[in-house]
Amino acid sequence: MKRVFFLDFDGTITKIDTCFLMVNTFAGDGWKEIDEQWERKEITTEECASLTFKLFRADLDDVRKLIETVEIDDYFMEFLDLCRKQGDDVYVLSDGYDLIIDMVFKRYGIEVPYYANRMIYEDGFQIACPYLNPDCGQCGTCKSSLMKRLKGDAEQVVYVGDGYSDTCPAEKADLVFAKGVLYRYCLEKGIPVVCFETFRDIIKHL
Ligand SMILES: [Mg+2]
Ligand SMILES: [Zn+2]
Repeated sequence: MKRVFFLDFDGTITKIDTCFLMVNTFAGDGWKEIDEQWERKEITTEECASLTFKLFRADLDDVRKLIETVEIDDYFMEFLDLCRKQGDDVYVLSDGYDLIIDMVFKRYGIEVPYYANRMIYEDGFQIACPYLNPDCGQCGTCKSSLMKRLKGDAEQVVYVGDGYSDTCPAEKADLVFAKGVLYRYCLEKGIPVVCFETFRDIIKHL
């Protein structure tokens, strides 16, 4: 059976959420309120990021040093090997940032196509959203519309994630592996879901 995997990045591939880590490290007072508005879907990802970046006290070098401390799931490389052997396509869909994914992937030698918001450093940080979907109006990178576009002729669409930006694409997958907020959401909505802690659980299940 031809499968395609769509993976969240923050808190799914990485052990911690890099957006949260950056904000918690670099943003001044007021970010929590902005984040809560985003969680309640009162503001979009783009608005949330623009407001939060204004509170940042950091430059590109500070970000780079911080991201060097970020580790990936201990079984992620093994998972990628398995996908390669089975001929399954793998894509990373993130409502986080290209710059951060690139830093982490380069350090681990990971080559997987990813779709994310752009993080631009020019007179402070800014966000750009090349994968915005005007019909959605919430996500910076609209994962559901990317899934539709990228799934090709796969017979099974598998989604792996943990957070708020994963709830919509999880509803459109054939199989969901989830933890955290996403796992609770799937249970509440009656979406068939398999709980995972690390990619080892996913490898075992496959
Ligand atoms: Mg996440
Ligand atoms: Zn969306």
